[in-house]
Amino acid sequence: MDPLVGAIDQGTSSTRFLVFNAKTAEVIIHHQVEINQSFPKEGWVEEDPREIIQSVYECIEKTCKKLCHLNIDIGNIKAVGVTNQRETTLVWDKVTGEPLYNAIVWLDLRTQSTVERLINKAPGKNKNHLKHKTGLPISTYFSAVKLRWLLDNVDMVQQAVLTGRAMFGTVDSWIIWCLTGGRKGGIHCTDVSNASRTMLFNIHTMDWDHELCSYFDIPMELLPKVKSSSEIYGRMKTTILEGVPISGCLGDQSAALVGQMCFKDGQTKNTYGTGCFMLRNTGNKPVMSEHGLLTTVAYKMGPDQPPCYALEGSVAIAGAVVRWLKDNMGIVQSSAEIEKLAASAGTSYGCYFVPAFSGLYAPYWEPSARGIICGLTQFTNKSHLAFAALEAVCFQTREIVDAMNKDSGVPLVQLQVDGGMTANRLLMQLQADILGVSVVKPSMSETTALGAAMAAGAAEGVKVWSLSPSDLPRITSEKYEPQINSDESEFRFARWKKAVQRSMNWET
Ligand code: ADP
Repeated sequence: MDPLVGAIDQGTSSTRFLVFNAKTAEVIIHHQVEINQSFPKEGWVEEDPREIIQSVYECIEKTCKKLCHLNIDIGNIKAVGVTNQRETTLVWDKVTGEPLYNAIVWLDLRTQSTVERLINKAPGKNKNHLKHKTGLPISTYFSAVKLRWLLDNVDMVQQAVLTGRAMFGTVDSWIIWCLTGGRKGGIHCTDVSNASRTMLFNIHTMDWDHELCSYFDIPMELLPKVKSSSEIYGRMKTTILEGVPISGCLGDQSAALVGQMCFKDGQTKNTYGTGCFMLRNTGNKPVMSEHGLLTTVAYKMGPDQPPCYALEGSVAIAGAVVRWLKDNMGIVQSSAEIEKLAASAGTSYGCYFVPAFSGLYAPYWEPSARGIICGLTQFTNKSHLAFAALEAVCFQTREIVDAMNKDSGVPLVQLQVDGGMTANRLLMQLQADILGVSVVKPSMSETTALGAAMAAGAAEGVKVWSLSPSDLPRITSEKYEPQINSDESEFRFARWKKAVQRSMNWET
């Protein structure tokens, strides 16, 4: 039997555990559990850390049971990797093992006034004041401001900090700590890709930074130890896979970059999940954007390996707009239904939908923007709205591609895509039309989990997976070519940009 590698994929909307064959990169089996989100106040988005870790346990257990039913020995699982929603912020008590507040999800906007205060104290009120060290603008998006809010507003967190019992982590840290024993000796660590999304991490020295921590007034003893993305962090203690090393850790977007085999400078992928995230590998050098993109650590495949960086265009709302049409408006019963509904119109009929529910991320970084729908007529119906929502995802991606082309000076020739929304063929065709380049989708849809499994399987002390270029698995794909003429797509894109301006100035 070929060696197997497991991957925990803890996303914003669900948790999955998948088992891969380390020779063929095929998924043998998986299990998935949805995660509830709560919205206690306008702009607030929380998840329950206990539910997150329970979902991980459930997925591991059910997947292992399914393996047993296939007569496959779970002893063949040689390592487990973790990939996770990034930036989402947790604080827990290391003595009781209990979370001290809900996880504040990356999309959450409660820190808007904290961000204003932090920008106001920067020289020239420049939101990019810390960009030279972090690659990021000061924004509600990143963990440091969420942690600042927890320290300012939650008594239990303040008490735990005073008594030396508080631990901070992103979701990867919480999962690894719990799985390696929790309050009984759990390992408190993170990897460089996750650390680079906190704003406390210096992407040049590759370590927590005193100046950054003091800017946000964050005690450094709360922070996890930063490790590479591929090494043995510890062994499973609290699951059926006891003793199996956890040896891969990558933020979800980095994992997708790895799973799409984008190891070379210039290779680019776009993942369509709750949000939409385009990463372009820039090799061993961090490239600072002049056009509103982020600079981030993509991965570091071993303690002695050099880091690899990426330029990133982050869009807050992609699949989330479909979920909104389903949950809040009730115009579809399932996310998949939107394709048929939008296809029945075949056009938005001049309607434009800017889903700036959480402000606008790249390239605008405007937290006060809000969603708008414009161009409505008596004729507009829900199918036009559905079409406009899908088109919005494509227009936002187009804005990121334009920024990346300007930053790199080399135009993108094809876009590799993945994520839950890419099941929507209408969306993929629209994307090719709006970008004017081919869109390539791997037939294997689990690229994020695959990236985490590759990092885990390649770690020193495990070595059941090779990352050398000649050994990389060849994954078949389907291609969408542009079908409309560029004049038409340029016209629609220009209208979209006008709608974006309105979403940023709708109150004035
Ligand atoms: P995440 O990793 O952020 O949890 P996923 O990659 O699992 O996200 O994708 C889930 C998102 O994709 C949801 O927001 C859902 O509404 C959207 N989605 C799933 N299937 C479709 C579809 N066929 N058409 C449009 N959107 C979809």
